[in-house]
Amino acid sequence: MDFQHSTIHELADLLAQGKTSAVQMLDDFLARIEEKDSKIGAFIRIDRDAARKAAEESDKRRAEGKALSPYDGILIGIKDCISVKNDYIASASQILSNVISPYDSTVVERLKAKGFIPFGRLNMDEFAMGSSCENSSFLKTHNPFDTDCVPGGSSGGSAAAVAARFVPAALGSDTGGSIRQPAAFCGIVGLKPTYGLVSRNGLVAFASSLDQIGPMTQDVEDSAIILECIAGKDKMDSTSLPVEPKEYIKAVKNAPADLKGVKIGLPKQYFEAPGMSDAMKKGCDEAIALLKSLGAELVEVDMPHTKYAVAVYYILATAEASANLARFDGIRYGKRVPDKDLLETYLESRGQGFGEEVQRRILLGTYVLSSGYYDAYYLKAQKVRTLIRQDFTEAAKKCDVIFTPVTPDVAFKFGAKSDPLSMYLSDIFTIALNLSGNCGISVPACIDEKSGLPIGMQFIAPALEEEKLLSIAAVFEKNRACKEIFPEL
Ligand code: GLN
Repeated sequence: MDFQHSTIHELADLLAQGKTSAVQMLDDFLARIEEKDSKIGAFIRIDRDAARKAAEESDKRRAEGKALSPYDGILIGIKDCISVKNDYIASASQILSNVISPYDSTVVERLKAKGFIPFGRLNMDEFAMGSSCENSSFLKTHNPFDTDCVPGGSSGGSAAAVAARFVPAALGSDTGGSIRQPAAFCGIVGLKPTYGLVSRNGLVAFASSLDQIGPMTQDVEDSAIILECIAGKDKMDSTSLPVEPKEYIKAVKNAPADLKGVKIGLPKQYFEAPGMSDAMKKGCDEAIALLKSLGAELVEVDMPHTKYAVAVYYILATAEASANLARFDGIRYGKRVPDKDLLETYLESRGQGFGEEVQRRILLGTYVLSSGYYDAYYLKAQKVRTLIRQDFTEAAKKCDVIFTPVTPDVAFKFGAKSDPLSMYLSDIFTIALNLSGNCGISVPACIDEKSGLPIGMQFIAPALEEEKLLSIAAVFEKNRACKEIFPEL
């Protein structure tokens, strides 16, 4: 049986009807990975024995009428920075390449409680720092739509694996766009939940005030399914919000036929940004025309501080990263350069263990926090972060959701952004949302005819309004002209 084009909800139906089993699905996905992942490079590794054992246990439960949920037995790919008990947790870094996680992250624990099977370690930029997956210290991941192009980053392995149908869905993490941008580059759906809605316990920290785990899926309904499973208060994460998950699946299933009565805000700063390609402009025009034809009321919103978002992010994210990564010193765990005195052990373990981009960010972050520069950079950036957040609050008074492109252009070729600044600037449409903390989703809109690459559009909603966000995104998804967005591999 070919499950490759089946979503989580379709697989759940097949399981319920007895048309497949967890073991059969596992074999099918493994065969496809075996055949095609050498071209894509989505996985760092797969623990086949653990997956098989979990699939057999799931089938046994189902046979006994004890399935944990409709999703019992369905695989979910895991980004390499999210811990799964007894599996490697390297965050695609050499310094952690020998570390095995002694515990499950809260998200994985919650997925397992519903019978989902965490599957494989998906490639990413080292410590989630990057937009192309080129910063992984392990391997290159290719875009399934064009293997000369990057899949985006940092959750590039997750996006490529879902797009290539190596897994029905995956988890990613988003600090400045790392779920939404690779989702857009690979033609899948990527949801960044409200900060604090999903526990960060067991996520390797990059920038703790920005990081969020979220689903990367074939459609909006699958994102709702995963979110409903992983969201909600967690005593293991003091920044997790004291809320219970809402009925996201119901919100998608009961989505209206059109967008009549929905106010959609178009921030001019996002559509007039420098570096927007013709392909993206065309994609935006078509998407806006679709929203109009669905009856949405389009209103212009002003987000005047958008232009500072990249600068603010690269001060705050690097500052937080420099503090978070201080714990990797070669002493307590991770790789150690042997036979050195204490200072040399620190210096050489970190010097050899961290890649170039990670070192650059540690240096930048340490600099902006250092005495004499703290006020000029870090403190000022915090103040501008408040202004950026206010832009979203003001915009929310005028509309239900905001609509923007995800990226200024389609996926780029390997090496095309070797200058770090040009790479940083490509995050221009995703970063502000992490600074403000509210939720956003990237939904495939169409395929650019010239390059054959997907174009994604982003909906943004106020904090904790994921139901509204998902429901509107589902209407857009259902009505887009381009129905089938997946690559021929
Ligand atoms: N591309 C951004 C960066 O390099 C965002 C990464 C992320 O969201 N993890 O920091």
